[in-house]
Amino acid sequence: MPRRGYSQPQPVFKPYLIACIALSAGFAWQPVKYWRFERLLSANATQLADGRPARVHCNSVADTMFDGEQFAAGHANIETGQIVFQHGWCATLMDYVGNPKTANPEDFFALHMFTHESMHVRGESNEARTECQAIQRDARAAMLLGVPEALARKHALDFYFNSYMGRRGDGWMSAQYFSDQCAPGKAMDEQLSDSTWLPFYRTADDQ
Ligand SMILES: [Zn+2]
Repeated sequence: MPRRGYSQPQPVFKPYLIACIALSAGFAWQPVKYWRFERLLSANATQLADGRPARVHCNSVADTMFDGEQFAAGHANIETGQIVFQHGWCATLMDYVGNPKTANPEDFFALHMFTHESMHVRGESNEARTECQAIQRDARAAMLLGVPEALARKHALDFYFNSYMGRRGDGWMSAQYFSDQCAPGKAMDEQLSDSTWLPFYRTADDQ
């Protein structure tokens, strides 16, 4: 009696073949996953930029090594609409969007950076104004990427109060990326209908 498998080569080779396919599909999945995420980010950055075409690129380790602005977590080119996330930041944003409920509050910075760079593509070059436009659109940006409204609104407001307002009197950060006029009812308030600051407007209307 022949030993099992020897007379029928198929049962031996089939699993091997399947394993090979699964393995190569596994290796191919990461780039496909990032390619799809870049497309999602590009489409939504364009929307946040009021229609100015944005193209988001997630840097690999090598990309970041050769990036002239490697010490910035992200950067944007107003002329070309190109937005670059340094290595690791796309993954953080993917984690946040994939599971916003249990996300680390610090992960929201990746979402905020996405909104900030989109505001550059929209045409703003002044950092303090860019940052304030982003603050007011963080809730919108999170919702565009699929975060449920209640969570998007809570996280955007938390970021404004904890991270943004925490920069008050913070030395160079306060000079470049902070303005005391970036507050509900102040000079930089754009009164957006879906603003991160919406709860403040509602309170004012109700009174
Ligand atoms: Zn900037």
